[in-house]
Amino acid sequence: MTASLQPKASHYVGGQYVEDTAGTPLVSTYPADGSTNANLHAATPAIVEQAIAAADAARAGWAAMTGSERGRILRRAAEIIRERNHELSVLETRDTGKPLQETLVADAASGADCLEYFGSIAAGLTGEHIQLGADFAYTIREPLGVCVGIGAWNYPTQIACWKAAPALACGNTMVFKPSEVTPLGALKLAEILTEAGLPDGVFNVVQGFGEVGGALVGDARVAKVSLTGSVPTGRKVYAAAAADMKHVTMELGGKSPLVIFDDANLDDAVSAAINANFYSSGQICSNGTRVFVQSGIKDRFLAELKRRTETATIGDPMDEATNFGPMVSQTQVDITLGYIAKGVEEGATLVTGGKAHALGGLYLEPTIFADVTDEMTIAREEIFGPVMSVLTFEDEAEVLARANDTDFGLAAGVFTRDLARAHRVVAGFEAGTCWINTYNLTPIEMPFGGVKASGVGRENAQSAIAHYSQLKSVYVGMTPVEAAF
Ligand code: NDP
Repeated sequence: MTASLQPKASHYVGGQYVEDTAGTPLVSTYPADGSTNANLHAATPAIVEQAIAAADAARAGWAAMTGSERGRILRRAAEIIRERNHELSVLETRDTGKPLQETLVADAASGADCLEYFGSIAAGLTGEHIQLGADFAYTIREPLGVCVGIGAWNYPTQIACWKAAPALACGNTMVFKPSEVTPLGALKLAEILTEAGLPDGVFNVVQGFGEVGGALVGDARVAKVSLTGSVPTGRKVYAAAAADMKHVTMELGGKSPLVIFDDANLDDAVSAAINANFYSSGQICSNGTRVFVQSGIKDRFLAELKRRTETATIGDPMDEATNFGPMVSQTQVDITLGYIAKGVEEGATLVTGGKAHALGGLYLEPTIFADVTDEMTIAREEIFGPVMSVLTFEDEAEVLARANDTDFGLAAGVFTRDLARAHRVVAGFEAGTCWINTYNLTPIEMPFGGVKASGVGRENAQSAIAHYSQLKSVYVGMTPVEAAF
């Protein structure tokens, strides 16, 4: 075990680490070699109670601070994260198995961007004045109260920051539950927020499995739940939250289309297809896993895609030359291999990959299927692994209908040099986040989220403010009150 990765305790509540060894043991392992990162315990009901009580108690004081004061703390946390980016990236790599090459730029770094962004706009969060003749009205932007954040395992630090930053900027407090597969990053965020001056109890972390998430969602003191996870979990959490009319943000799964027209820049389109399927070993919700290629460039596209995919540097995630790491868990390996077998069985053409990598353990080969048809399982279900399906199309109307023929609606992309067509296609996509001539870029300044079964609400950008605050309308009578009698 790498001693330095063992946190002082499993949970972070009221500004300090707390433990309850009665909780189910929870072992954090390094996906690259199975070694132990840390031994933790899932939260017991007593820890859950402590965390919600701490967040509830901290609520009034935090909400009473000015936006400038709150923002300053978030910006200070962003600076600390940037100073410690290397150490946090190593931790993220140990937690997830993602290559350090990626975690150095995409995880804590994105978290810092998010804290900086919401820290910068916190002072400007206001209601409005509405003149009504001699009378007037105004609105007060109020925090919701105690928010619960529940995260998936693919971007543990980023997800914790994307939920905490807008929630805290608006004056809410939070209890965050990471996925039990990746428990470490959120604890570091909690430590750093304390170091930046966050009052105790404003941001708390509890570990655990689904039932801990369920206990948090079901607590009457909780005003809002923000989940990043799969569609089935989203349905359960949304239904549980509805019982108390809680606010929700649901960032769920996808099976997103990436449409490449004949006139596209071939090199860019191939790069985008690689980024949209093999970054983080394919474990990204917004991945463009249905790559629709117009028939005129299909052969050239596939040849170049295969050639470049076979140059991936697969190996030790801590080696910065590595650009393709292991899967996060044996469960995810088994799911992905199951889908690859289905692809072969249902008649898709295996272009490259298709099996466990020679390195063994949790390593898979980046896999490309061609001649995939719309009804094949690999074209319909989210795999969450490095499996790209290439489908062929003839014209715009056809591809748009096929791209939208899914219950999901998280993301979509189009490659073409015809900009009028690009905007027309994007207008027709049933997806919450779209890209033209690029893919999977998610800067904090741009709203991110899905439509249809992929979720409700948006993270990041100004739009997240609406999901972490509510407006109180106040009508001010300045004239005599008239009555019928
Ligand atoms: P899950 O849906 O299995 O879990 C998500 C989180 O919810 C975990 O912390 C999980 O805990 C918790 N949970 C499970 N059951 C309940 C419950 N009944 N009540 C409350 N919480 C519960 O997703 P994964 O962790 O496997 O992540 C992969 C999924 O996440 C993919 O479908 C992917 O598309 C989606 N995702 C979406 C993103 C987006 O922004 N749209 C981004 C990243 C991923 P535990 O793990 O301990 O069981």
